[in-house]
Amino acid sequence: MRAATRFAPSPTGPLHLGHAYSAILAHDMAQALGGRFLLRIEDIDRGRSKPEWEAAIYDDLAWLGLTWETPVLRQSDRHAAYAAALDDLWARGLLYPCTCTRRDIEMALGAPQEGVPLAEGPDGPVYPGTCRPEGDAPRAGIPRPTDRHLRVNMARATQGGVATAFTETGPAHQEMILTGAGDYCFGIGDIVLARKDFGTSYHLSVVLDDAAQGITHVSRGEDLFEATRIHVLLQRLLGLPTPIYHHHRLIRDEKGKRLAKRDDARALAKYRAEGATPADIRRTVGLA
Ligand code: GLU
Ligand code: ZN
Repeated sequence: MRAATRFAPSPTGPLHLGHAYSAILAHDMAQALGGRFLLRIEDIDRGRSKPEWEAAIYDDLAWLGLTWETPVLRQSDRHAAYAAALDDLWARGLLYPCTCTRRDIEMALGAPQEGVPLAEGPDGPVYPGTCRPEGDAPRAGIPRPTDRHLRVNMARATQGGVATAFTETGPAHQEMILTGAGDYCFGIGDIVLARKDFGTSYHLSVVLDDAAQGITHVSRGEDLFEATRIHVLLQRLLGLPTPIYHHHRLIRDEKGKRLAKRDDARALAKYRAEGATPADIRRTVGLA
């Protein structure tokens, strides 16, 4: 299969320097591999996604000199695929409904003891399992609920002591990252795979979409490194290939704080308005 990388922004605000860095890296990686560069609009959060931000993304990326294949995949067009995967996992007894609020979860976890922090997974505190069904959960004939969050039953998903592996690459290294059943059950926990308001989750959508787009190399920020463990398990459960990963450093401001969408001061649009060139942007993020 021909190599393919992607850039997958959410249209919930202006692109800033960190996005430019991420997009250029993925684009240049595709070029170095003689592969394809794809774009995906991650708009499962319908409330925060806006067409004008999507338009601004295309405008900024084109200004940077990047080109990408069309059509662009939009997650809001992919609900049938997300639902089919959830139906499959549900029928296999790997999901269960959860009605806990954030407060319920904090209460169930109790006040953390002095000096003993709560186990923090990629999605926050490890879920205490309040709604997890006991024993086997035969689902044949029972329709999948869509009015509640659905969590992954990690104990069932990793039954038999499953461990996963993915390759992490960098400019000068290559490493195998292993995750064991214990890490999944106790370090990550029963994460939400379908939010009742979205009908999916970041984790499920990204895994299905990377596969649908034929992505062979995922280049993205190191803030998503731990989430990749979840993605690799989902790939295995759904029979999808695992890409090669590269988690890049994050662009930070002078105080060392990572840039966020709301940091309008770092918006590419602002640099453009002040007369910066794409070469200036490359230099500013250390890609001269
Ligand atoms: N949509 C995510 C973001 O804006 C990126 C997801 C990914 O690259 O896997 O941070
Ligand atoms: Zn619950």
